[in-house]
Amino acid sequence: MSKIIAVNAGSSSLKFQLFEMDDESVITSGVIERIGLDESIFTVKYNGEKIQKKLPIPTHKEAVQLLLNTLIEHNIVSSLDEIKGVGHRVVQGGAYFNESAIINDDVVSKIEELKSLAPLHNPAHLTGYYAFKEAIPSAGAVAVFDTAFHQTLEPRCYIYPIPYKFYTDYKIRKYGAHGTSHYYVSHRVIEKLGNPEESRVIVAHLGAGGSLTAVKNGKSINTSMGFTPLAGIVMGTRSGDLDPSIIDYLIEEIGMDIKDVISMLNKESGLLGVSGVSSDFRDVIEAAQAGHERAQLAIDIYFRRIIAYIGRYFIALGGCDAIAFTAGIGENSAYARKEIIGLVSEALGIVIDDDANENGEGERLITKPESKIKVYVIPTNEELVIARDTKRLLNL
Ligand code: AMP
Repeated sequence: MSKIIAVNAGSSSLKFQLFEMDDESVITSGVIERIGLDESIFTVKYNGEKIQKKLPIPTHKEAVQLLLNTLIEHNIVSSLDEIKGVGHRVVQGGAYFNESAIINDDVVSKIEELKSLAPLHNPAHLTGYYAFKEAIPSAGAVAVFDTAFHQTLEPRCYIYPIPYKFYTDYKIRKYGAHGTSHYYVSHRVIEKLGNPEESRVIVAHLGAGGSLTAVKNGKSINTSMGFTPLAGIVMGTRSGDLDPSIIDYLIEEIGMDIKDVISMLNKESGLLGVSGVSSDFRDVIEAAQAGHERAQLAIDIYFRRIIAYIGRYFIALGGCDAIAFTAGIGENSAYARKEIIGLVSEALGIVIDDDANENGEGERLITKPESKIKVYVIPTNEELVIARDTKRLLNL
């Protein structure tokens, strides 16, 4: 029996899933939110039950301790030694990591070095790593990088057309993100296609953040996020692609500070910025259905930015065997899938199966047999990839 915990430590939160790796079942999962704030919230799911506690949790160290104590108290594990491995999601692995890595001093210093590329995330991941290392010294630790899957991009796709020295001297290039999800979903699709030697898959990861990836023969060849996760499609609060001159204009003509501009593009733009209603897709749809014009405009822009990437990647892949929808919106909104597919169906010969799209559940095909491209819904499972990589690298 080997138990592995997959951990996603954010700046003020820590999500986890504990796996029994013999059958890859999830024993328990949960989240600790608002770490460091007055009232932190600890939610854990076990045996179909949800336990929630509100209490002050000053740092990640106390959060990890509370989580591990809860596992013992509820007899989820009889001793912490049963947890043989801890897999940590790491947002930015730069060009150093094209796959997951056992965490040692060198890996720690690289994650640390890369914090300028992911200032909110990488330091938080290391805080999580240290907290688990102290609490369960016997467990091995593995870093699973969100950028690793996109390391197969060729220079012609990851180099920005600005003076080359900014790449060589300052490492400015496309890194992408959501790689663990794109890897999992594209490989599920390839299995569903019958593991052909050649395959062309477009994955649309549509959640609060969102990105599309073109996957050729199992490898990422291009992705919509860029140097940071601000690029690409419209997101809940992020603008996605933009003419960079807007930034200069906001500073020179409107007198905004550069930090405020970047914060506005990250936190006040996207669906929220255009609609003025919410960053949550459900709220924006509800408002649009009630006649809110800007909510409808936000949705229209969102869909059009997505189909622009589908078109690009269809060309880049030289055609397409399958498109997959995943993450909060991609998995749950039949409306979004139908509208997006509707916008490309004439050009790409896609025939949606409305019944499968609207009434089915979980992993499924949502196109009719005559469709030229198969469209799937694939619930993403980044935690399982993290747990599997941890098991493999630690030889558990
Ligand atoms: P994620 O970041 O993957 O958790 O996705 C969050 C997004 O998914 C939010 O914008 C939610 O509004 C959206 N979402 C979740 N469930 C649904 C649903 N049933 N219908 C439409 N959007 C949904």
